[in-house]
Amino acid sequence: MSTATPSPTAPVYSNHCLPFQVEGMNVKGRLVRLASTLDTILTQHQYPAIVNRLMGELLSLSALLGGMMKFDGIMTVQIKGDGPISFIVCDYATSGNGEGVLRCHAQFDEQALSDLNDDGDSLAALLGKGYMAITLDQGQHMDRYQGIVELQATSVTDTAVEYFKTSEQLPTLLKLSCAQDTDGRWIAGAMIVQHLAQSSDDEIESYLRHDDPREQWQRATALFESLTIDELIDPQLSLQDLAFRLYHEDGVRAFTPTGLVNGCRCSADKLRQVLSNFTATDLKEMANEDGVIIMTCHFCETDHQFELNKLIN
Ligand SMILES: [Zn+2]
Repeated sequence: MSTATPSPTAPVYSNHCLPFQVEGMNVKGRLVRLASTLDTILTQHQYPAIVNRLMGELLSLSALLGGMMKFDGIMTVQIKGDGPISFIVCDYATSGNGEGVLRCHAQFDEQALSDLNDDGDSLAALLGKGYMAITLDQGQHMDRYQGIVELQATSVTDTAVEYFKTSEQLPTLLKLSCAQDTDGRWIAGAMIVQHLAQSSDDEIESYLRHDDPREQWQRATALFESLTIDELIDPQLSLQDLAFRLYHEDGVRAFTPTGLVNGCRCSADKLRQVLSNFTATDLKEMANEDGVIIMTCHFCETDHQFELNKLIN
């Protein structure tokens, strides 16, 4: 076994995605931790705690998936269900300066959510039956891709694992975690580990080295299972520490981490464009008594205001 390769970068503790590879196991993975970025997003929305926890897991998943994009683009995770929460959308967009920008929106029945009993935190209790859709749009560089998977009754994690099993057909391990710290701030973490597909040359080489790829994967899995969901969100443990703790004996190599920030792509200009499609009569109906049309962006809860006079002239 080779020795651990030191990280090329300073340790990161939060608001980053860290890609890594385990040389001796033909395994790649990514770690995500969201702290102030997540807390800022959730403070904008003021959702109930049970929605916040789910949102933390989904934003972490979006960041893991977004980290796979080879070009600038947008990765969207959408969930639709027939339960108390009917719709969730999270997206991750590349910022153009190397960061990932996250935002989200949820629709739910507040009364139905507060009527849930204590064990109402399974995905089936919160969302009922439905599906998760993952859409990848990398502009002109690649065709738009969408994968859809039925919601699993248990959790977002199990639903996402099912998605990887059916769409990527790569053996995948995934853990998602989200909780509040003692000061009430939200923190989320995620780790994904995937077995790389081997070329026939690789297979011959591992046969010659007497390495059984199945044994490698079993070992990668056993080590992954030793990770607790509390460690994923432990602010004292850097993402590099987490990767090294699990896989240092097998030669883990961490790559440059990507910063994760909150942000929205809405703008007054885009909304003015939308409003230009309406007739003067429609616009008058949309305006309040002061002659102002207020359009709220549900991703960032910003009120964009337009004066009716200026729109009609
Ligand atoms: Zn917005």
